[in-house]
Amino acid sequence: MSQAIPISAMAAGVKPSATLAAAAKARALKAEGIHVYDFSVGEPDFPTPEHIQQAAIAAMKAGHTHYTAANGLLELRQAVARWYQRYHGLRYGPDQVLISNGAKHSIHNVLAATVGPGDEVLIPSPYWVSYSDLVEMTGAKYVLLETSWHRGFKITPAQLQAAITPRTRLLMLNSPCNPTGMVYSRGELEALADVVVRTGITVMSDEIYEHLVYGGVRTTCFVTLRPELVEQTITVSGVSKSYAMTGWRIGWALGPMHVIKAMGNIQSQETSSPCSISQYAALAALEGDQECVEAMRQEFEARRDLVCERLTRMPGIQLQPPDGAFYAFFRVADHFGRTFGGRLVTDSVTFCQAALEAAHVNLVPGAFFGAEGFARLSFAASRAELTAGLDALERWLRS
Ligand code: PMP
Ligand code: GLU
Repeated sequence: MSQAIPISAMAAGVKPSATLAAAAKARALKAEGIHVYDFSVGEPDFPTPEHIQQAAIAAMKAGHTHYTAANGLLELRQAVARWYQRYHGLRYGPDQVLISNGAKHSIHNVLAATVGPGDEVLIPSPYWVSYSDLVEMTGAKYVLLETSWHRGFKITPAQLQAAITPRTRLLMLNSPCNPTGMVYSRGELEALADVVVRTGITVMSDEIYEHLVYGGVRTTCFVTLRPELVEQTITVSGVSKSYAMTGWRIGWALGPMHVIKAMGNIQSQETSSPCSISQYAALAALEGDQECVEAMRQEFEARRDLVCERLTRMPGIQLQPPDGAFYAFFRVADHFGRTFGGRLVTDSVTFCQAALEAAHVNLVPGAFFGAEGFARLSFAASRAELTAGLDALERWLRS
């Protein structure tokens, strides 16, 4: 008699990525011929800049279609190191850089190499959906540091200090933040850095949105704040967001050599090398003209202004404009208890379901990011699409 194949305890505990699941739901409706205003997944709608595409084509034609070094092309690791020297004055060698299949993979490698059963990982909340599952996959436990909307979704040094136990291994920082768009000031990060130095915990600083900031706000590269942090920090980033390269799957991590080596060993067993062609494309992105990054940033800023202006005028919606990333994270709790088209809205999940069914606007519930009462709108969509989608959302909220 045949028996179902048993699923491992690790796999049984993993949920699919909520943001990717939300995008899949919109795709299913689109397949039925329904126009969905899909503001769920966070990925730039722009095509990858032409010179980057050309570099990929040239790489293929030049025969770069084989495995590369498991930890990534030396030229690309050098380029990443140079890039951090140019922008942040940091001195990393190529052996302190690991190229992976997207920053999500880099984060997995950081966690797999540094934490395990019995360890605690601190995650300021709201947080990007994948953080908690990626921690759980290692057998470590995640501990959420709750923040409030009124304080700009920021953790305080006292809160960080109080959360640290003998089991605490790692803090996952993300500024600019997905989903809130919050950006810590240099002073705020310095105060957190002092706690990190004093307690000796490790920091994974996810700076993937560092070039996407608005209204003159500046970001700070965490590891630059104190000399000790070089030994305590792994910085993660990649080309997905700044260069509109989500599908190419290239991310990186920089950190102490022994950690990068351990991460590289895991990667060499898991995936061999990242895609060779994508690595040549990423090289062109980092070494080429940076004008494309600024052009896309300016367009995101215009969209941010449009989205915030529209949302703040809608009934029962409250938001603080995001300083970075490309998400509006707004409070929808005033609508809980209302019935829309026969559907009772009781929480962020039912709010987003109702918005999708009735207005064909696809948002991601705040609950998935650890923030019940909120919804996330990605403004990585054209202004025309945003305007039409916000019209539909407003009509529905006023219905
Ligand atoms: N970190 C954050 C905060 C993100 O929003 C994303 C986007 N998915 C990633 C990391 C991973 O990006 P990618 O794997 O596409 O490089
Ligand atoms: N980071 C993006 C988002 O939050 C991409 C989706 C994902 O990788 O989960 O929508």
